[in-house]
Amino acid sequence: MRPARALIDLDALRHNYRLARELSGARALAVVKADAYGHGALPCAQALADEADGFAVACIEEALELRAAGIRAPILLLEGFFEAAELALIVEHELWCVVHSLWQLEAIERSAVARPLTVWLKLDSGMHRVGLHPEDYRAAHQRLLASGKVAKIVLMSHFARADEPDCPRTAEQLAVFQAARGELVAETSLCNSPALLGWPQAWPAQPGDWVRPGIMLYGATPFEQPQARAARLEPVMTLESRIIAVRELPAGEPVGYGARFVSARPTRVGVVAMGYADGYPRHAPSGTPVAVEGQRTGLIGRVSMDMLTVDLTDLPQAGLGSRVELWGRQVPASEVAAAAESIPYQLFCNLKRAPRHYSGVA
Ligand SMILES: *Cc1c(COP(=O)(O)O)cnc(C)c1O
Repeated sequence: MRPARALIDLDALRHNYRLARELSGARALAVVKADAYGHGALPCAQALADEADGFAVACIEEALELRAAGIRAPILLLEGFFEAAELALIVEHELWCVVHSLWQLEAIERSAVARPLTVWLKLDSGMHRVGLHPEDYRAAHQRLLASGKVAKIVLMSHFARADEPDCPRTAEQLAVFQAARGELVAETSLCNSPALLGWPQAWPAQPGDWVRPGIMLYGATPFEQPQARAARLEPVMTLESRIIAVRELPAGEPVGYGARFVSARPTRVGVVAMGYADGYPRHAPSGTPVAVEGQRTGLIGRVSMDMLTVDLTDLPQAGLGSRVELWGRQVPASEVAAAAESIPYQLFCNLKRAPRHYSGVA
């Protein structure tokens, strides 16, 4: 069998979830959208089911998959509904629902929901993607309460630049949020992973408040630079494969498509069963780190669909059949992402073909 595979360590996932709760002192919705960032929404949700305060997903399709698998915890739809017809299912399956736009508010007012909803009312505090305008926020809150269709409202916003440690924008967004909420007393939720790891000012004020960790659950840092709290995360995914061919080249020989690498010295090339069809980033340049039998070395030449090539010149003990870690504990996904001008989020979400193998929990 082809040796490419993604090992998923569910104990590490639980460790990271607990860290999110410990750091913030709040309740945490485990964000498992996009198939848990490529880690498998069902196994990840099941691994957290006995302790998670709830889950968050991007759409009702993802939520229903969790419900069908027996996940009973609260599930928040991070963009609410895309059409009003979803409201019946939201009620039936007891989903929580973001309201980020006036059209959603109006749809709720017009709806005939059988049971009152739990709404997370999203403020646009400066990211300017979704969320209500600060001037409309309290009025929207008032209208939801007055609609009789809503049992509970959580106040929510989202940061655009919390992954930039010295950026004043996060504090500005926080101030916009505080001004917009005014005297409203309610549970709040502001922090994604970078805010949770990097912005204690934004941490919940009350134990009943909420954080929304995503990427940190999977053990990847959202920061470009080393960060003390992020250093406590444990990588959940190890993408690995093996050397399937070895060749010795003299100096001056090209390797792979487009001859993007030409050996500057006699070079021992290892061919790895891993390519962009598995989700490995095609734009990872020569030098992108990999670990072969635990030793770090680098990619050489272009990544192709099913294979990539690595430099074994300084690893004489490595050869045919050697284990290669593309990312995981020895090679952080964030490092590979930086080399490929991507982010760990995208690397994980792109995972495909390479089968996932789970360990940990039960
Ligand atoms: C995806 C998402 C999150 C999680 O973000 P991370 O950076 O992965 O922690 C939190 N909140 C909202 C609204 C999201 O869409």
